[in-house]
Amino acid sequence: MILTGTGVSGGSACAPLYVLPSRGSHSAPVSVRALVPGTWGERLTESIEAARAELAAVVADVTARLGPEEAGIFKAHELLLDDDEWRGEIERLVAGGIAAPAAVRQVSDAVAAELRELDDDYLRERAADVLDVAQRVLRHLGVDSTTPLPTAADGEVVLAALELMPSDTLGLDPAVVRAIVTERGTRTSHAAILARQLGIPAVVSVSGLLAAVEPAVRQGVLCAVDADAGTCELDPDPGTAERHRTARNVVEVCDDPVRTADGVDVAVYGNAASAEEVAAAVSYGADGIGLFRTELLLSGTMRVLDEEGQVAAYTAAAVAAGGRPVVFRTFDVGGDKPVDGLSVPHEDNPFLGLRGVRLCLDRKDVFATQLRALARVARDHSNVHVMVPMVSGLEELDAVDALLGELAADHRLSVGAMVEVPSVAVLAREFAARCDFLSVGTNDLTAYLLAADRNNPNLGSLYNDLHPAVIRVISAVLDAGREAGVKVSVCGELAGDPHALPLLVGLGLRAFSAAPPIVPRLKQLIREIDSRQAARLAERVLRASRVEEVAHLLATWPFEEASHAAAPARPPASRTGGGDRR
Ligand code: PEP
Ligand code: MG
Repeated sequence: MILTGTGVSGGSACAPLYVLPSRGSHSAPVSVRALVPGTWGERLTESIEAARAELAAVVADVTARLGPEEAGIFKAHELLLDDDEWRGEIERLVAGGIAAPAAVRQVSDAVAAELRELDDDYLRERAADVLDVAQRVLRHLGVDSTTPLPTAADGEVVLAALELMPSDTLGLDPAVVRAIVTERGTRTSHAAILARQLGIPAVVSVSGLLAAVEPAVRQGVLCAVDADAGTCELDPDPGTAERHRTARNVVEVCDDPVRTADGVDVAVYGNAASAEEVAAAVSYGADGIGLFRTELLLSGTMRVLDEEGQVAAYTAAAVAAGGRPVVFRTFDVGGDKPVDGLSVPHEDNPFLGLRGVRLCLDRKDVFATQLRALARVARDHSNVHVMVPMVSGLEELDAVDALLGELAADHRLSVGAMVEVPSVAVLAREFAARCDFLSVGTNDLTAYLLAADRNNPNLGSLYNDLHPAVIRVISAVLDAGREAGVKVSVCGELAGDPHALPLLVGLGLRAFSAAPPIVPRLKQLIREIDSRQAARLAERVLRASRVEEVAHLLATWPFEEASHAAAPARPPASRTGGGDRR
C-alpha cells in the first residue's frame, strides 16, 4: 500500500515501522495524585518554573548541537510560559477551583484548536508548540503523557505518528529513526525543521496514515519512505525495500570535496560552537567550519573567558578541524543575550542596538582579548580565519583593522565580514574589495531586510528567507564577490535547506555552511545538480517579484525544457507557498 503526503526533509529509507501511540485528546480525564485542595496554584507556579528551567537547558543544548535558529523554537516555548492568553487563562481557571492539570489541558486544547483554524500555515503549525509546552508543564504536575520513543534496542525503524512535537523530534536518534511519517504537519512545523537539521527523511500530512498502520497490526511491518517524492509504502516488495535502503546509504558521509554533475567545485562547511562540534562536523564530511560561533563558548559560564582560556578553546577547534579552514566569528552578543563582563544598558530595541561588532568596539578591552587570542592561535594554525558579525559600515572594519594592527602587527590575519545588515549588501562591492571573504547570514539579513522577527508569532509567514528581495540581495552579494575574486559563502539557515540548494548553486554560490548533520545530504544533492540548469532556475527566480512565484519555481524545477540535460536524480519536494521555516 502506497500512501502520499508532503516530503519536508528529503532522503529515503526502509525499516520496520514503529508506531508512536497517539496521545489522544488533551482533554481526556486526568488522573493525578490527590492534592490538598488549595495547593494547585502553588503547584502550577512550581511546575511552570520547572518547565522554564528545563527549557533553558534545552535551548543551551540545541544551540550547541544544531544552532541558535533551532534553539529559537524552544526560546519561543519559554515565552509561551508567560503568555497571558495561555498562562493567564490557566491561572484564572485554577483560582476558580479547577485542578491545575485539567486547566492546563483545557486552555492548551482551546488555544491549539483556535490556531488550527487559522488560514496561515505558520500560525496553524504553532498548535503543536502549545501542546508541547503543555505536556512539559503537565509532566511537572504529575501527569506524564509522554510516549516512549524508539531507542537503539529497537533497531532501525521508520517512526509513524499522528503528529510529532518539537521535543519528541529533538529526542530522536537519527541512527535509530531512519525516517518519520506523520498524519499531520507541514513544512513549517517545528518538528519538520528539526527533522531537516537532524538529517532524518520525513513525510508529513499523510492522510489515512494511522488507520493504515493500525498499531496492533502494523508495528514491525516494513515501511519504505521516499521523502523526495513524499511517499511511504507499507509492506514493499523486496526490490523496492532494497532500493530505498540503498538510496539511504548514498546519503552516508562523503569526506571528499564535491562537484556538481557538470564539474563545478562546491565547498560544504559545517557550523560549530566547540571543538567537539568541529570534530562532529568533520565526521559528517564537512570541508571545514564556515561559522564558529565563539559567543557560545560563553553560554555555559555566561562570562567572558580570559585570553588563555580562549587560546585553549580556539586551538582545540583549529586542531579538531585537521587542517580544514575554521572561520571564527568574533563575539556576537548583546541586546537580548547578556553575558557577565559584557553587559549592555537597557535598550528598547535590542536587535537594533549594541550587538555583535558594535558591542565589541564599545568594549575594546574584551574585544582586544579575543583578537589577541585569535591572533596567537592563527600564528600556529594557518587554517584560522576571523569573521566580524553585525557589521553595518566600512568604518567598523577600519576600527577592527586598527585594533589588529596594534595587537598583531607581525601576523596578518585573514578577516571577513558577515553580510547580515542590509547596508553591507548595498555596499557589497566596497566590502568585497576590502575583505578576505564574505559570508551571508541569511537569518539576520532576512529579518532586517523584511523588518520581520522570525520568532514573533504575530507576523505569521512574513519572515521568509526565500522572499524575492532576499534572493536578489544574495545574488548582488555573490556578483560583487565574483567581480572582486573574493569568496562568498552563506552560513544562515538557508544554506542547509535542500530546497534552496539548486537556486543557490544557480546564483553562483560555491560555499555553504550548515548544521553538520545536513552536510552529507547537501553533498549528495550537489553532485546531482547541473549548474547550468540551476542557473536557468536562478534567472527565472530573479525575475519573480512574489513569494508564491519563487515557491512555484522551486517546486517545479527541474523544468521540462531543461530536464534532458543531466537532470538531477530526484526533483526537490514541494515547498508550500510562502511558508517559512520558523
Ligand atoms: C545569521 O544571522 O544568518 C547567522 C548565521 O548568524 P546567527 O544566526 O548566529 O545570528
Ligand atoms: Mg546573525
